[in-house]
Amino acid sequence: MLKKERKIPIKILKLEALLRRLPANHVRRKYIEEELARSYSGYRGEQALDYYVAQIPGKDHLIFQDLRLPFSKDYFFQIDLLLLTQRHFLILEAKNIAGTIFIDQNQLVRTIDDAKASYPNPIHQAENQQYHFGNLIQNHTNLILPNTSFVVMTNSNSIIKPNPDYRAVAQKVIGPPVIRPRVSRFYSEYQKDIIEKKELQKLSRQLIKMHTPSDPHIIEQFQIEKNEILPGVFCEECEQRTIIRLQRRWRCTQCGKVDDIRFIHALVDYCLLMGPSITNQQCRSFLQLTSSSISSKLLRSLHLPYTGEYKNRAYHLSIKELQKWL
Ligand SMILES: [Zn+2]
Repeated sequence: MLKKERKIPIKILKLEALLRRLPANHVRRKYIEEELARSYSGYRGEQALDYYVAQIPGKDHLIFQDLRLPFSKDYFFQIDLLLLTQRHFLILEAKNIAGTIFIDQNQLVRTIDDAKASYPNPIHQAENQQYHFGNLIQNHTNLILPNTSFVVMTNSNSIIKPNPDYRAVAQKVIGPPVIRPRVSRFYSEYQKDIIEKKELQKLSRQLIKMHTPSDPHIIEQFQIEKNEILPGVFCEECEQRTIIRLQRRWRCTQCGKVDDIRFIHALVDYCLLMGPSITNQQCRSFLQLTSSSISSKLLRSLHLPYTGEYKNRAYHLSIKELQKWL
């Protein structure tokens, strides 16, 4: 049973918003584009698991796609896919890396043509998750569940080189079609219920509650100043910041298209890049409005929660709430 579904990471939405709103010749553009490509490839790799996991027989396992859980006050561990039953748990870690792949104790080395790149050892990464998740279960239930993990190489253009000195590679690194047989074999080895059904349901609810998506402060990460972010409302057709408010309507100055909700997309961008709080003045300047009374009217029309009064009033933006209007 699917208990938690994967969502597009907020980081990808932020990187896309940032690229939309930086000048074409900005010096950091290339790095941001690379980071976006990496994030997308990771996300697609994780998505590739879902199709194969759906084929695993066993009606009673709970499936969690992408869980980010705390292991202390400020630190988290992230699981691409968790299978949890009354008898055991199993973790799948997706790696979407093309090329020839060689894994030793210290690292994963990827070779394409003659270029080598090194990544952390994914077997250890998955085992770390087993460790933290095992602890978490023990803290919540006082029980120890048998567990295992696999690293799934989701890129069809990857070749995994065997490593006779490191047996874990053959045992733990698999391609997606091997998920079903390997998981089934593990399931068959542990048949004894350890957690009661009711307790498992409770644990499942707690996991969903504890899940904390990563939400990086993207403009800080790339050392971009707030005043470098381009204001304005994008036209869907022209893909330019050419929509302006004139005589109570939002109209594109290039193609003439009228689009009265496009400014909400701009507020979503504001929330992604600048943060979840906006004053009337900030809104006026970001939407390039001619008066602060229009700005105030627009903000009020969205029924956003706010704190402070008059000039100090700050409206609280949330992507989820803004998207309800779109
Ligand atoms: Zn247009």
